[in-house]
Amino acid sequence: FDMFVLAFVERIFRPTYRKDDFVLGKKLGEGAFGVVYRVSSTKKPSSKKERDLVLKKATEYGAVEIWMNERVRRACASSCADFVYGFFESNSKKGSEYWLIWRFEGESTLADLMQSKEFPYNVETMILGEVQDLPKGLERENKIIQTIMRQLLFALDGLHSTGIVHRDIKPQNIIFSEGSRTFKIIDLGAAADLRVGINYIPKEFLLDPRYAAPEQYIMSTQTPSAPSAPVATALSPVLWQMNLPDRFDIYSTGLIFLQMAFPGLRTDSGLIQFNRQLKRYDYDLVAWRKSVEPRAAADLRRGFELLDLDGGIGWELLTSMVRYKARQRISAKAALAHPYFDREGLLALSFMQ
Ligand code: ADP
Ligand code: MG
Repeated sequence: FDMFVLAFVERIFRPTYRKDDFVLGKKLGEGAFGVVYRVSSTKKPSSKKERDLVLKKATEYGAVEIWMNERVRRACASSCADFVYGFFESNSKKGSEYWLIWRFEGESTLADLMQSKEFPYNVETMILGEVQDLPKGLERENKIIQTIMRQLLFALDGLHSTGIVHRDIKPQNIIFSEGSRTFKIIDLGAAADLRVGINYIPKEFLLDPRYAAPEQYIMSTQTPSAPSAPVATALSPVLWQMNLPDRFDIYSTGLIFLQMAFPGLRTDSGLIQFNRQLKRYDYDLVAWRKSVEPRAAADLRRGFELLDLDGGIGWELLTSMVRYKARQRISAKAALAHPYFDREGLLALSFMQ
């Protein structure tokens, strides 16, 4: 009952919008399924911050995206960009559209930040407040990358604990929130909520092949087709345990970790070439390393050096994320408890070895 009252009160006080409440600003993105603009709201009374918004005009898939964002704002709000409102807009010329509104979180995605020669130093003050007193070098870079990874896995754990698999985790879909000084996940357009069977298997074609795990379908094809909602609610924890669909996102997050450690893999061509090599070694990172390390250029060697710090704890985490079999990949929650994130844990690892 309390939850019901809360939802009701929240609903009343949350601003609602219609089409005429926005002045379009810069176009931020355009995909096959929608266009995204920075907009300013003309609705009064509102502060400057409240007027600074992002609008996505989406095709029919926008319905699912609104549903996912509503669910996230109730269950794990800090994981994703702050969703404000979504509505259906029928348009006689363009057919119908879904309009989705978020707070403008900030200027840069992780992809933008990773493009800079300065990365990861350009992120340092953004997330850590002030510059560390360590000299520039591997230790310091590792610390920054560690913080980014912790924030990503924290956001992902929120989604997964809610029953949502994102399915399109990539640096372009990770925004730096200037307000909370953390990275948040955006773009739930391809997400699936397995607890209620929403967007169960369809739209595999949406997936970005550069970051997709090798399994084509996140649920086994032997799983019967999506049960209707009430049945799915009861069954899906079992289906979840059977298929571990969340590990699809873990693989993508592992690739982001890899790109942060190896500057050469930050370009499209670098990543595509890496994917080709990894496939050749049957998705075995250790085998890949054995083959490339002896004749590696300085840049690649430096990446291995970074991951080998503190007894190879970073490499250990990376190899437990990027694995062929979903079942063998670590979960977001377990990854957060990995000794990589924990100075005390270093000792634990030295005992394990
Ligand atoms: P799509 O990839 O379908 O075009 P996204 O939801 O990923 O749509 O948004 C496109 C781009 O818009 C993002 O890469 C990001 O640069 C920007 N963007 C999206 N949401 C926000 C937000 N809440 N705050 C700031 N920028 C955003
Ligand atoms: Mg996107």
